[in-house]
Amino acid sequence: MGEPRPTVPVVDYLVLDDGPPHLVGSRCDACGAISLERRNACARCGTRASTRVRLADSGRIESFTIVHRGAPRHIGPFVSVLVRLDDGAFVKANLVDVPAEPTAVDLDVPVRIVTYPAGTDDDGTEAIAFGYAYDPTEGAHRDGR
Ligand SMILES: [Zn+2]
Repeated sequence: MGEPRPTVPVVDYLVLDDGPPHLVGSRCDACGAISLERRNACARCGTRASTRVRLADSGRIESFTIVHRGAPRHIGPFVSVLVRLDDGAFVKANLVDVPAEPTAVDLDVPVRIVTYPAGTDDDGTEAIAFGYAYDPTEGAHRDGR
């Protein structure tokens, strides 16, 4: 296809140009709570000081929703998941490579971040989105409790 296209992440907390794609968040300087969103103050203890940190690449499915939007854009169906990352942060994203059926999704399954093209703008810049896929390095139904 010739020249590699320039890419841009669809959200500013997705980092594509510093090693493998990963998310960044903030860690409270006082209590260590990690969150995806940049907050004015820690949700747990109220401290205002925080440090930008790389978030974990893997986690487990905390909850999920099958999304199916009708007119005018006819999106979906797809699976929206709330993932509890291994570092404690919560991230909402799409679950990819899984049929959008309630019986195809399990809670507490290990997942890992993946990226995929989400469209190209008029200048040929490709937007990159992130989601989560079942982690192939872990048994999908391993009894880990
Ligand atoms: Zn805190």
